[in-house]
Amino acid sequence: PLVLGIESSCDETGVGIVRGDELLANTVSSSMDEHVRFGGVIPEIASRAHLDAMIPTLRQALDEAGVTLEDIDALAVTSGPGLAGALMVGVCAAKALAVATGKPLYAINHLVAHVGVGVLDGGTLPQNLGALLVSGGHTEILRVKSLTDDVELLGATIDDAAGEAYDKVARILGLGYPGGPVIDRIAREGNPKAIRFPRGLSQPKYMGTAEQPGPHRYDWSFSGLKTAVARCVEGFEAAGQQVPVADIAASFQEAVVDVITAKAMLACTENGISNLLLGGGVAANSRLRALTEERCAAHGISLRVPPIRLCTDNGAMVAALGAQVVMAGGEPSGITFAPDSSMPVTSVHLPPVR
Ligand code: ATP
Ligand code: MG
Ligand code: FE
Repeated sequence: PLVLGIESSCDETGVGIVRGDELLANTVSSSMDEHVRFGGVIPEIASRAHLDAMIPTLRQALDEAGVTLEDIDALAVTSGPGLAGALMVGVCAAKALAVATGKPLYAINHLVAHVGVGVLDGGTLPQNLGALLVSGGHTEILRVKSLTDDVELLGATIDDAAGEAYDKVARILGLGYPGGPVIDRIAREGNPKAIRFPRGLSQPKYMGTAEQPGPHRYDWSFSGLKTAVARCVEGFEAAGQQVPVADIAASFQEAVVDVITAKAMLACTENGISNLLLGGGVAANSRLRALTEERCAAHGISLRVPPIRLCTDNGAMVAALGAQVVMAGGEPSGITFAPDSSMPVTSVHLPPVR
């Protein structure tokens, strides 16, 4: 099916068009420049930017794909999780298009779309797939039994997301915002072994009791690491020494990437998962990509990592998951659903409101 997807959960306005698992267009407009001076995304500014960008982005995507709205078989939109006001703009635009064209509308989970985008790079996803989702607001390991209706959470961060840790550490190091790309770049000039930062929660957590056996949880914690970086910087300053920014950035990044991949490997091997997808905006990180590849190879896990422009927020990922739901015979969501800023990852798409 020809599916048009709309994304507006944070600061990217995205419209993507796919035919099945073939990518036809992926237009993204970001309001990041407007948030830089505040050191974080300002929800109200993001919402207004979505309003300005929505129609031009839609037009450009249709042009790029060489199709018209009449050609489209179904519409898909991110209905959560994300910023409430930002989600509202995309959802309203999608509902308006659905009413105007009479096309079915599917309300899609943004996090699962970070996984579903994998079909655009290599076709149908393997059975018994693990998904390591590392993004601005989330760090999760999922078991995807069915991309369209059975996603299970095996573990998640108990405090900061990895992307947040990057942003906070970049601020501590005076590197500006957003922190991910700048730390990735500066870390290349530093020694990742210069400082041994703490690796939190290195063991899986047993969820059972003596009477009732249970599974493991594979959680992460990044707030201790952030504090350790702050203490480290203070130490150099108190001693009147120059802060070795590149070494700290590299050592911080090594600690983050080490714990993320180590826990993911444990989750896969203990659960018989032999295929892994790495997704989410932080999957743009060069060291995370490299170490995940290395460790998957060592554990006999086959890895799929979508290209960077499909890892950061975009509309094609929403269209891609929408197309999968359509092909699986999923019911359209109608036009009376509300955006859900804290939509759980286990809810792949919203059923119609009855
Ligand atoms: P979520 O998907 O959890 O709702 P989001 O949609 O805001 O969050 P994404 O767009 O998926 O997040 O990812 C954005 C995050 O990716 C930001 O925190 C950014 O700093 C981070 N990021 C981007 N490039 C890199 C990189 N090269 N290294 C590390 N982090 C990066
Ligand atoms: Mg973003
Ligand atoms: Fe995202």
